Amino acid sequence: MDELEFRFARGEEDEREAVCKLCGRFFAVRAEAAMLYEGEEPLGELCPECVESGPREAAVRARAYAEELRQMADENEVLASRVEAMGSWSGASGARAAGPMKPRRRTGDPRGYKPI
Ligand SMILES: [Zn+2]
Repeated sequence: MDELEFRFARGEEDEREAVCKLCGRFFAVRAEAAMLYEGEEPLGELCPECVESGPREAAVRARAYAEELRQMADENEVLASRVEAMGSWSGASGARAAGPMKPRRRTGDPRGYKPI
């Protein structure tokens, strides 16, 4: 496992929404983003709060997010069992009438960034 490094990197888009790799918060990331790298591998963008708070406080936020993800995983396991028991999507006409939903990215996509 390579050592972690904090660097700024330039992306291809001017501005977009990203998810902080550490705390999971959505934030607007500009062309130049604060990134966490493992060796040459970009792991993800860091939000301004995690950058400003420093590694120790960012680790506290990362642990809180990890706990949130564990709870979400447990809820999804329960939901999966309940959906499985449905057997079919009968009665889904309401969802069709509302139209397809645009999927929202939950995880950051660090590809497309070049180290500065
Ligand atoms: Zn953050």
